[in-house]
Amino acid sequence: MEILKSERLNNLSYAIRGPIYDKALQMEQEGHTILKLNIGNPAPFGFEVPQVMKEAMRQQLDHAEGYSHHLGIMEVREAIAKDYTARGFQGIKSEEIFIGNGVSELIIMCMQALLNPGDEVLVPSPDYPLWTAAVGFGGGKAVHYVCDEADEWNPDVADMEKKINSKTKAIVIINPNNPTGAVYKKDILQKIVDLAEKYNLVLFSDEIYDKILYDGLQHIPVATLSDQVHCITFGGLSKNYFACGFRGGWMIPTGKRSKSFLEGMNLLASMRLCPNVPTQYTIAAALQDDSVVKGMIQPGGRLYEQSKLVQEKVSQIEGLSCVAPKGSLYCFPKIDLSQFTFKDDVEFTYGLLTEQKVLVIAGSGFNFIDNAHFRIVFLPDVEVLADATDRIGAYLDSKRK
Ligand code: PLP
Repeated sequence: MEILKSERLNNLSYAIRGPIYDKALQMEQEGHTILKLNIGNPAPFGFEVPQVMKEAMRQQLDHAEGYSHHLGIMEVREAIAKDYTARGFQGIKSEEIFIGNGVSELIIMCMQALLNPGDEVLVPSPDYPLWTAAVGFGGGKAVHYVCDEADEWNPDVADMEKKINSKTKAIVIINPNNPTGAVYKKDILQKIVDLAEKYNLVLFSDEIYDKILYDGLQHIPVATLSDQVHCITFGGLSKNYFACGFRGGWMIPTGKRSKSFLEGMNLLASMRLCPNVPTQYTIAAALQDDSVVKGMIQPGGRLYEQSKLVQEKVSQIEGLSCVAPKGSLYCFPKIDLSQFTFKDDVEFTYGLLTEQKVLVIAGSGFNFIDNAHFRIVFLPDVEVLADATDRIGAYLDSKRK
């Protein structure tokens, strides 16, 4: 008899590595070359982890053979506290900082530590789908608030407030945003902080892209706007330092503290024993030097040029429109479905993969409801991106009504 997976997993999904990804891998095995624009993983596109981090790992390897403290090495957590204090965070306590095997692990732990069956968490739509899945896995219900394409994908705070009820435990924001490339405006962030304070909600702020901003924009960490909310800020090595494979992330509680929640997190952290120790030694080195990413987001820098090219090229395609990404590694174009013969975003992405060998993920995979968007990862260099957008254009031309 078949062994069934747990019922907790029944309605969970993670589209970025979902069935279309499996299909792309199968096509590769059959000899096709697939241009994979599905995952925000810089290394395969020629981005290198900064040398100072590699050096820190090499130097510390001899001291990295045992488990560390279950929340992470104290001196590394102190380095994180110092760095974020310099960015305007107030009242950080190093002993409350958690280091994780990536931000992903900490997100999953937070939801396990916080939620009881039926509890609700406000998650953006579109979202980075791990958040929705982690809420479900934690026994809660993700309730999606709308991010407004007409307002450069900023959260619709009125929609957020409408969805708050007695079961709501937390609000999640992702800023800079995956998948839209939005960087939230200060007045919107302030309104979200006010809501969290008014309704006594935990505010989870996923800021893993906080150093990837274009056009000289400044990132505003939401934790700096109030000391009266339960705020948990996430940061990590994967994106700002191109070190996805290192699996290093952290979370910083500020503002009001919930002893019980932090105790729960402590228990979960002790159950996973400790985060990867060699990687922890690279965190302090990373925080001291962000020159590599800074160079890439300036005009002439790799990420800057790629972000501009993709938006420009996509917007030139009849039937597509695209809000310019202000940060992160993604944009989220809209398809005018009325112009084409395919019925929705999913059919579009499968058609694009089979006919043009380009893999992108449908907007519905990011819990966006209109079935008319898709996400592009703009990590490949400009020549490859130009080719990819040409192929998207060619596919759309072949499907015009
Ligand atoms: N949060 C967001 C918004 C992301 O886009 C990602 C990865 O793509 C993560 C968290 C997970 O990052 P990590 O590699 O640190 O687990």
